Amino acid sequence: MQLPIQSYLADLYQQLAAMDDGQLASYIPELTRANPDWFGLCIVTMDGYAYTAGDAAQTFTIQSVSKPFVYAQALADQGIETVMRRVGVEPSGDAFNSISLDPHTGAPRNPMINAGAIASTSLVAGDTPEHQWQRLHTALSAFAGRDLDLDAAVYQSESDTGFRNRAIAWMLRNFDITEGDPMPSLENYFRQCSLLVDCRDLAFMAATLANGGVHPLTQTRCMPAEHVERVLSVMATCGMYDYAGSWLYEVGMPAKSGVGGGILAVLPGRFGIGVFSPRLDDKGNSVRGIAACKQIARDFGLNIFNRSSLPSLTVRRIYTAAESPSRRQTGLHSVAHLREYAARIKTLCLQGEIGVDSAEYVIRQLQQLAPDTDSFILDLHLVANLSHGAARLLHAARHELHARGIALVLSRIHGRKSIEDTLRCNGADATQGFLRFEGNDLAVQWCENRLLDGIPDEEEVECCFSDSGFFAGIDASDMKQVCSLMQTRQFAPGEVIIEAGQPSDGEIFFIERGRVNVLAPLPGGGHQFVATLGPGMNFGELVLLGQRTRSAMVHAESAVRCRMLEMHALNHLATELPELKIAILHNLSLDLADKLKQATRMISVLAN
Ligand code: GLN
Repeated sequence: MQLPIQSYLADLYQQLAAMDDGQLASYIPELTRANPDWFGLCIVTMDGYAYTAGDAAQTFTIQSVSKPFVYAQALADQGIETVMRRVGVEPSGDAFNSISLDPHTGAPRNPMINAGAIASTSLVAGDTPEHQWQRLHTALSAFAGRDLDLDAAVYQSESDTGFRNRAIAWMLRNFDITEGDPMPSLENYFRQCSLLVDCRDLAFMAATLANGGVHPLTQTRCMPAEHVERVLSVMATCGMYDYAGSWLYEVGMPAKSGVGGGILAVLPGRFGIGVFSPRLDDKGNSVRGIAACKQIARDFGLNIFNRSSLPSLTVRRIYTAAESPSRRQTGLHSVAHLREYAARIKTLCLQGEIGVDSAEYVIRQLQQLAPDTDSFILDLHLVANLSHGAARLLHAARHELHARGIALVLSRIHGRKSIEDTLRCNGADATQGFLRFEGNDLAVQWCENRLLDGIPDEEEVECCFSDSGFFAGIDASDMKQVCSLMQTRQFAPGEVIIEAGQPSDGEIFFIERGRVNVLAPLPGGGHQFVATLGPGMNFGELVLLGQRTRSAMVHAESAVRCRMLEMHALNHLATELPELKIAILHNLSLDLADKLKQATRMISVLAN
């Protein structure tokens, strides 16, 4: 299948190929050897898929497109303050090769003009100029995702004829922006301009910036995440020479162009774009490059200021523990109590990117639900990313709710390092942080325990089997007879009571003391936790409906005392007391109907 963006780029290529305005850069002979008709386009997605059209594999020298990446390296090596003291961030109305400094600060106006770029190059760490160059070359190659070659002839020409850049370098030295002999750093600047790229490389370099500094394919972190927005800001205001204002107005993406004919444009979090066509306008920007970016931005509405979101989509669903209780039912009393109050436990399943706007929306939902709530669970397994601002708001909300006696806990973020880190950085201190649970069942259990606080611990409680709903409506004299059929069985913690897949001996178990865990075997091996049961509850009762093989494994969690009733003894008794069997089957069907209702509710909650 021809992918739509692929066809779109191919059409765009056809449409713009006819444009032949502009001139090749001619300040060195090598650049005039370019074929003026070369035209390549590339768009790279955040998962590293590259769409290309035209001469996408044609190499050319990167020239000034190297500047933002070298600035990024200077920031990484020296820190923001040191770099800011030597290179400003104000757009200049002058040409890129202007021999001037900001009269107020005495520093180059920004890192996208030659003065600021040469200063940035000199700020890259390294013991010797050669070492600095190696680091620079490695850094630029990492952004492209491959080792970039140097065009030796272009470098030689740049160096032989770069008198104006020499004047700039000496000016920087004179005003103490740089230290020592400025010429070796200037050679590195000439080298960085002479690296060979194709428009695919440019698109990957742009995509790396769009992806927070991580190359979408190699997954290499090419620069600290916190510098990305700074680099993009100077690109937005200064990246297109004197055309920067109109560019932002019409295209609206941080970008950088070079006299080799390359332009890269960055759509943060979405795309990287690389275009190459060597005919330049009088400001030094590729004519077709600008036309292509304008067209793409217009056709897809890609301006960075054109971003809208619907924070309400963040909340995928809200449900209570009455609809989806935990699988831990530790006894008759607690089950009855929870049935009454479980709607006070609310789970909000969130999804997508949680920025400040989404967090604000979520918190307003919490505020609205709070009067009927004892605990909130935020299920984050579908959350792609959590912003620092969002984490701050959530911490503040947790604090507020806590003061009102309402818990706010998180579920399903284990192993999601970026979310965990963001939460950690923005919390007051580690001990005050969010409680996190690996799964929703554990989270709900914790919340249920809060509701059960004050109800006697059922570990200590005993329940007579006759209290079980299983025997509801059976009179005392019949019950006496049933009782005489029962045997008492004790199990040590960990002991297996029923093995899954085994033929059953037709026993029904009534827990009087302790807890058991029910586990269902999984087709691929291993077990799925089904439930924890406690005093007053029974298991194994499906033998009454003719089940011959045990479907789940049951083992004792603590010391367990059960009463056990054998089905054939019960059937024997039923020949004299048929109404007894009818009552038991009636109770069993009520219980099964209840379980079915619960399962249906849970499925509908989970399926939406
Ligand atoms: N090598 C060129 C110079 O420094 C690069 C300029 C550019 O691409 N704008 O003059």
